[in-house]
Amino acid sequence: MLAAILRNVGDDTLEVADDVELIAPGPGQVQVKITHTGLCHSDVSAMNGTIPQPAPAVLGHEGAGIIEAVGEGVTTFAEGDHVIVVWSPPCGVCKFCTGRNQPNLCTTFLFDRPMGNKFSQGGNEIGSMAGAGTFAERTVMPVEGVVKIEDDIPLDIASLIGCGVMTGAGAAINTAKVTPGSSVIVYGAGGVGISAIQGARIAGAAEIVAVDLNPDKLDQARHFGATHAVTPDDVDEVKAEVTGGEGFDFAFECIGIGSVMRGAFDATRRGGTTCIVGVGRMEDMIQFSAFELFFSEKTLVGSYYGGTDVRSDFHKLLRLYKTGKLDLEGMISKRLKIDEINDGIKEMLEGNVVRQVIEF
Ligand code: NAD
Ligand code: ZN
Repeated sequence: MLAAILRNVGDDTLEVADDVELIAPGPGQVQVKITHTGLCHSDVSAMNGTIPQPAPAVLGHEGAGIIEAVGEGVTTFAEGDHVIVVWSPPCGVCKFCTGRNQPNLCTTFLFDRPMGNKFSQGGNEIGSMAGAGTFAERTVMPVEGVVKIEDDIPLDIASLIGCGVMTGAGAAINTAKVTPGSSVIVYGAGGVGISAIQGARIAGAAEIVAVDLNPDKLDQARHFGATHAVTPDDVDEVKAEVTGGEGFDFAFECIGIGSVMRGAFDATRRGGTTCIVGVGRMEDMIQFSAFELFFSEKTLVGSYYGGTDVRSDFHKLLRLYKTGKLDLEGMISKRLKIDEINDGIKEMLEGNVVRQVIEF
């Protein structure tokens, strides 16, 4: 089958192969025919080493499709079920899933019970990004790693929920808990940032400022709910205009650059919340003065997969989509075939697109 493989960490293109084989689902696993998969910046971050990902690996972690086969003992899914792939499946029994009610932080399938390789090529096993590997016509997931959805949800729309939309909207709604009437600034208007803007709008923010280097993104950000949209040079001006210079109630970093994270903290008002959604490099350090943390009483919080419980949140987002409150169609800037994936990566790095969806 077709799949896009990262051959070596550091490569700036993926290898599109047509001879990748799938290892059949084992007990407690399901085989998913991937119909659509979104291109997320985290895929590029796996290529350049920002996100640790051994190679070779089939990348892709934002996908949706149809169950084709189930492994031994699986009774909760059947052939033909429509599903969204979950890149951080909640096992349902660990401390994070139960007592702490933070199932997005479950690491069972990452460290304790990794499901093993599911792809091979020429007899050699190949890994998969975040245990998902959706840049392939088919993948295998543990049952906890798929969420069943209604058949009438378009699967291109569903795929976006699997990462970028859940991450951005969840950061606003679940992690930072944006409040009605608040002021918000969002750095980065890619798939994740636009979703944070939509999440803040749904949560009732009064003002939402989008910041992006690419001026073409500013009009798009306004379309999705930003009340103001500026390039980084104009942040101070808009902060003065919207907040009287005090700073925003909520600031979101949706890019993954330490200096921008620091800027987001500085743009937050005293007592406000800075939410870090972007994934930066491990060696990219940020400094805080030991005095300012006390004096400013700001909440600095990371957001992993939008603080989600995928088992309920995916459905909530789909209801918002169905009732016209969450624009997912508008987020699809381009549709690609898998052999166009390297053009898609270029487009993303130039900041030209909100989301691109690969259709198999
Ligand atoms: P993207 O590439 O689609 O969007 C990034 C946007 O930021 C682009 O519009 C670009 O023009 C803009 N930008 C780049 N540098 C900038 C700067 N210095 N100032 C202002 N704007 C700038 O990326 P995405 O898919 O939306 O992902 C955003 C980030 O979120 C990435 O770091 C990704 O790895 C991360 N992410 C985090 C999670 C999580 O669980 N926290 C999940 C998914 C993605
Ligand atoms: Zn992602």
